[in-house]
Amino acid sequence: MLIGGDWVRDASAGETSILDPATGASVASVPAGGQQEVDRAVVAARASFADARWRGLPANERRRILWRFADLIEANKGEFTQLEVIDNGMPLAFAEWEISACVDWLRNAAGLATQLYGRNASSAMSGGGMDMHAYTEVSPVGVVALIVPWNAPAGNLMIKLAPALAAGNSCVVKPAEETPLSTLRLAELALEAGIPEGVLNVVLGLGHVAGQALADHPGVDKISFTGSTETGKKIVRASAGNLKRVTLELGGKSPAIVFDDADLEATIPQVAMGIFANTGQVCFAGSRLYVQRGVYDKVVAGVADFARSLKIGSGFDPANMLGPLISRKQRDRVTGFIGSGREQGGEVVTGGNAVGDSGFFVEPTIFANVHRNMDIMREEIFGPVLVATPFDGMDEVVSAANDTRYGLGAGIFSRDVNKVHLIARRLEAGNVWVNCYGVVHPSLPFGGFKESGWGREMGAEGFAAFTEVKSVFVKLTA
Ligand code: NAD
Repeated sequence: MLIGGDWVRDASAGETSILDPATGASVASVPAGGQQEVDRAVVAARASFADARWRGLPANERRRILWRFADLIEANKGEFTQLEVIDNGMPLAFAEWEISACVDWLRNAAGLATQLYGRNASSAMSGGGMDMHAYTEVSPVGVVALIVPWNAPAGNLMIKLAPALAAGNSCVVKPAEETPLSTLRLAELALEAGIPEGVLNVVLGLGHVAGQALADHPGVDKISFTGSTETGKKIVRASAGNLKRVTLELGGKSPAIVFDDADLEATIPQVAMGIFANTGQVCFAGSRLYVQRGVYDKVVAGVADFARSLKIGSGFDPANMLGPLISRKQRDRVTGFIGSGREQGGEVVTGGNAVGDSGFFVEPTIFANVHRNMDIMREEIFGPVLVATPFDGMDEVVSAANDTRYGLGAGIFSRDVNKVHLIARRLEAGNVWVNCYGVVHPSLPFGGFKESGWGREMGAEGFAAFTEVKSVFVKLTA
């Protein structure tokens, strides 16, 4: 791990073995940090924030360094995609997309470094014999902890790290215990790009040990967390000690809604990849499918055909579109949900089984005949499992789509522009996609309603979440 510019090999909580999810074999061993390493990393980050070695640089210098960081990632793209495939199991094409997105988001954030400024309200406050010079000043928050899950290790980190650094914060990163490899390589390149020592620290270790120590730490000013809703709630409780600022990107059970006037040929692959991309291990996966009754059989059969056409296997073979789940635990969790779906009366349209003797593979699975109280309808499975339900009218589908504690994404497929805007307005979701699914872009914020999170990443909102704002009132006298 990287603490204050030093690479630390021996850690207080021992070692973690990193498994290739496609084979189950151990491919690496990394140190596991605990309270001691978290303390050291926070002290190093605090020192770098106090002496302003990063936040005190001219903004265009920070921009230049972040741009160079992006160039270095791009130059090493092949290595990064391989690390992601080894560590997470994702298909090569998905890893390529992820690393290109990292480069793009970092370049976008580099430009934000020169946009760390406030606004002026002097005119509004002056007049009637009063002269005021009044403005807001925007500054970095301080030491920020970035806690990241395993489903897109580099991308989930970069969405946080890029704006955090652009705003001038000092960071302590805790990758998921399953997938630390790309984070370590990113940290190496950050140093090479010229990000000063101590500004980016990486602590490895288990969530309830190293992650919890970071969440509890009084020297941390903000936590930006992506992961499960359950852990998000623990982070909120831990952050109360010193009232850390908290941003949460949590789980989802996102609906995809298909109307009978949709272009079905274009819709079916989007619905299928909306759930099966990255083997369903995507927070905004479209895991509940609602289809208008007249086209229900056709759409469900089409998505099932598409699912059966997806080749399953190692991410390194470009023909494979579906990789393994991250771990044995996650595979057993997913097959457990499939079992509960069967027991509770669901009908398996396709899939339903684990695949192979080695690695953690599960077939893309579609359930029909589901009802609102079934576990597979209510819980985030985080695997390749889709539940399909027919609907008749608009009010009915809006209320079914909103019938969840989550509110991350929602897809609408229809050619009727009037209808899609009316529905988009009524859906309780932070991201609504019409005739597409899962588009994310640094121009617009990403985040969730309800138990899918707090705050936003990306966009102006995501940048503001890594800043503090101060109002300054100066009374002028003639
Ligand atoms: P998790 O939320 O436990 O882990 C995410 C990150 O938080 C990891 O870095 C982990 O080490 C850390 N963490 C865990 N416990 C912590 C604690 N007490 N304090 C601070 N940090 C802690 O997720 P998981 O156990 O890896 O996966 C479980 C479920 O979470 C999945 O099945 C899925 O439903 C969901 N999940 C969602 C997302 C998402 O993007 N929304 C990502 C990963 C997992």
